[in-house]
Amino acid sequence: MEFIDVEKRFGDNVVLQDLNFSVAPGERVTLIGPSGSGKTTILRLIMTLESLTDGYICVHGRPLTHEKRGDKRVALPKKQVRSNTKRIGMVFQHFNLFPNMTVAENIIEAPIHVLGMSKADALEKARALLKRVGLADKENEHPTKLSGGQQQRVAIARALAMDPEVLLLDEVTSALDPELVDDVLGVLREIAETTDITMLIVTHEMQFARDVSQRVMMFSDGQIIEDGPPDEIFTRPQHERTAKFLSAVL
Ligand code: ADP
Repeated sequence: MEFIDVEKRFGDNVVLQDLNFSVAPGERVTLIGPSGSGKTTILRLIMTLESLTDGYICVHGRPLTHEKRGDKRVALPKKQVRSNTKRIGMVFQHFNLFPNMTVAENIIEAPIHVLGMSKADALEKARALLKRVGLADKENEHPTKLSGGQQQRVAIARALAMDPEVLLLDEVTSALDPELVDDVLGVLREIAETTDITMLIVTHEMQFARDVSQRVMMFSDGQIIEDGPPDEIFTRPQHERTAKFLSAVL
């Protein structure tokens, strides 16, 4: 994945400017940095929940929403953008499950409507995923009947049901009671160990970041101020702002 000269403004507020970085296929990268430094915005741009105000994002070699033609920056047709985002999954802080659907219905929705899977195949896959996230017996429950940790594991299963090439995790444990955090992180660790999904992770769980990611990027005011293996960043931060941030969260 490449961010090329990315700019994102909300009105006059320039959140990201001249942002350039690449993430290799299969790489797992944790984004850290103070609140307001632009981490969530980066994930939302990749998910196309926000639109770029300038620059380009490519995912696995394909331009996501805009491409360069000669000197021009051209927006891609909506249909192409939708197709480009099919294999990008996101798990949110607040789960964002459909409350009026059962757990299984939440998971099979996109595979049926976006990938054109048969209901039987989608359901079979959903059951296997529910087993994988430790919720085999919850297929017919409504999300509101589940704990936050269980809802989050359903959200992870829902993202995996689309066979994502890229998985975006936005503070997925921040809204959970402390005793539920480990179950969710355990599921994510298993996914990290057993798949080659590219993962971009925004989290304050530094031990988790250390365990699953090969790389940590530290953001400050929309810029990457440090970028390296977790062991280096966490034990020998080069930048004063990184050291200060880490001493506050560790
Ligand atoms: P982080 O995830 O690092 O806490 P965010 O990406 O959430 O940072 O926010 C970065 C900046 O963008 C903040 O100044 C925030 O107020 C602003 N911002 C984020 N989303 C919106 C929005 N939808 N409308 C206006 N400003 C926004």
